[in-house]
Amino acid sequence: MNSLPPFSDAIVVGAGFAGLSAAATLASSGKSVTVLERHEQAGGRARAFSHEGFTFDMGPSWYWMPDVFEDFFGALGSEVNDHLDLIRLDPSYRVWFDSGPVDIPAGSAAVQDLFESMEVGAGEKFRRFLIEAGRKYKLGMGRFVRQAGHTPLELLQPSILPHAAGLSLFGSLSKHVRRNFSDPRIIQILEFPVLFLGARPSNTPALYSMMNYADTALGTWYPMGGMNRIVNAMESEATRQGVQFHYGVDVEEILESGGRAIGVVAEGRTCLSDTVVAAADYHHVEQDLLSKEWRRYDESYWQGRTMAPSSLLFYLGIEKRIDHFEHHNLFFDSPFEPHAETIYDDPSWPEHPLFYVCAPSRTDASVAPPGCENLFILIPLAPGLAHDESEQERLFGDVMDRIQMRTGEDLRPHIVFRRDYAHREFENDYNAFRGNAYGLANTIGQTAFLKPKMRSKLPGLFFAGQLTAPGPGVPPSLISGQLAAEEANEWLSQFAHGQAIPA
Ligand SMILES: Cc1cc2nc3c(=O)[nH]c(=O)nc-3n(C[C@H](O)[C@H](O)[C@H](O)COP(=O)(O)OP(=O)(O)OC[C@H]3O[C@@H](n4cnc5c(N)ncnc54)[C@H](O)[C@@H]3O)c2cc1C
Repeated sequence: MNSLPPFSDAIVVGAGFAGLSAAATLASSGKSVTVLERHEQAGGRARAFSHEGFTFDMGPSWYWMPDVFEDFFGALGSEVNDHLDLIRLDPSYRVWFDSGPVDIPAGSAAVQDLFESMEVGAGEKFRRFLIEAGRKYKLGMGRFVRQAGHTPLELLQPSILPHAAGLSLFGSLSKHVRRNFSDPRIIQILEFPVLFLGARPSNTPALYSMMNYADTALGTWYPMGGMNRIVNAMESEATRQGVQFHYGVDVEEILESGGRAIGVVAEGRTCLSDTVVAAADYHHVEQDLLSKEWRRYDESYWQGRTMAPSSLLFYLGIEKRIDHFEHHNLFFDSPFEPHAETIYDDPSWPEHPLFYVCAPSRTDASVAPPGCENLFILIPLAPGLAHDESEQERLFGDVMDRIQMRTGEDLRPHIVFRRDYAHREFENDYNAFRGNAYGLANTIGQTAFLKPKMRSKLPGLFFAGQLTAPGPGVPPSLISGQLAAEEANEWLSQFAHGQAIPA
């Protein structure tokens, strides 16, 4: 670890997407910024690891909402294309139903044709559904999502109301979809994107049909080399702006003096600053790093939150090509409701869960040795489950059996590398509350101003990341970092450089 600076205008805790975004944004306005990250690399849940020619992205694999990345790099005076070699996937993804696979093509017109072939009249209904979803996307991204969530008044500005007229926003997404479509496959395809938001479609506001616009109209993209390339790009952009990164540094305490945040203690050393942006998991920062009098929320508040699911992940190296797979594969060959009950109603290990297989080596030869396949398998699970190797092994068997049943391929004899990752690892690696993977769910009661507040009770401390506004996912985490940086910048405007009070 290189030596920590005694003073920075801003300290950012955590180098996930939110921390990288906050740090780069603050530095671009001329502030001295130090990032402290407990791992030896940036990325947080989006880290990567390599093993004998395989390179695995550990978390996110869907590059959606390209406009958010364009805005981020644009605000820093560069362009996405300066950093990333993006390709649009076509098909966007393959869905495996029990009746067989369906490819979701790139582009709205092609999806319209697909839906018409499944349900008479669904093509035209989808065209209209998507126009509304597009209006919501523009409204949501322009007005709702880029709000720090301080007060309900943010949603009631007069400028918003004309844009919101006639849109179905606060009813449930599930009802919104079912009002328009009846083929169960179309319903599942249209409800799938909100699983990113961490809640059941019946408990997610209809505003989020904007995700269908993101899916169909804006497309599914892939940065060649892997999703971790986004992290590298943000880190190099932040470094260009002057941010100093310190890896392998665990922050142990947020320091307070005179009723405001004045820095942190990390690895037993004091680092002073005029503001702190905490971009590690919110619950960990408040409960473990902040003294009790400055916590806005107690343990019972957190116990009452609906967390987004945790996940059981299998990273697999396969010594043959699997032509049955597209880049993204959703196995919806089993009913969702029993699985959803184990996630949201009765936390337990599911019998035959829905799962997702990412095969980036279908697109990108650099992530696997020649003739091999790089697979990442994800099963959403209830947060808070105790580590249980026999359940993990049973689910591995279930997934392998179903892949064999649907594709005719038994992967097991061809596995040359396997690594499992679940709650225990999320907790140990990220201090994740109840081993959550995607933060706090975007339920109707946990949206916008109903999320844990970005401004701490302790003046000068701000939160960023997937447990505060605007919510889980890479693009929202990026926006969260920008919003927290704006808050911190406003706070810093009252100080002359170097004013933190020694503890
Ligand atoms: C398996 C998986 C798949 C996903 N798939 C997608 C997808 O396809 N598309 C998408 O958009 N989103 C996806 N997501 C969600 C997305 O990855 C997250 O919402 C986003 O990465 C969260 O970023 P963050 O910065 O809020 O948190 P994190 O990435 O967790 O960053 C927090 C950082 O803080 C550090 N830290 C914690 N405590 C301390 C401490 N005390 N001191 C110093 N550092 C500390 C951690 O090490 C970490 O680096 C996925 C998530 C997972 C887990």
